[in-house]
Amino acid sequence: MSDCLFCKIAAGEIPSNKVYEDETVYAFYDIDPQAPTHFLVIPKAHIGSVAEITPENATVVAHIFAVISKVTKELGLESYRVVSNIGEQAGQSVHHLHFHVLAGRDMTWPPG
Ligand code: AMP
Ligand code: ZN
Repeated sequence: MSDCLFCKIAAGEIPSNKVYEDETVYAFYDIDPQAPTHFLVIPKAHIGSVAEITPENATVVAHIFAVISKVTKELGLESYRVVSNIGEQAGQSVHHLHFHVLAGRDMTWPPG
């Protein structure tokens, strides 16, 4: 998508602090961290949110979780939270599928 912030970040057109990259997935630190470690994992191909995941594009989501499992181990994170906000009421501000990975502080439940 030509006017999508995270498509531009995945393409390297807008700078970011990279955590991980392969052919289909990109991960980078959040610009406004909500925990001592806070990064985002996104598919390089544009998907608007979890609501747009279908049997045809779902493979990348399994891969994203494999990447989260690998990268968190490499960073020495034993406990962390994975979050994806879908839609306005849930607080989604960027309409390109992303999974927040948050770690390094006590988390409350239920989330606010
Ligand atoms: P959400 O509000 O769930 O859609 O998450 C979007 C996240 O993207 C927020 O946590 C923002 O801080 C983060 N964000 C926005 N712009 C950038 C950027 N240029 N680089 C890194 N993270 C960003
Ligand atoms: Zn996009």
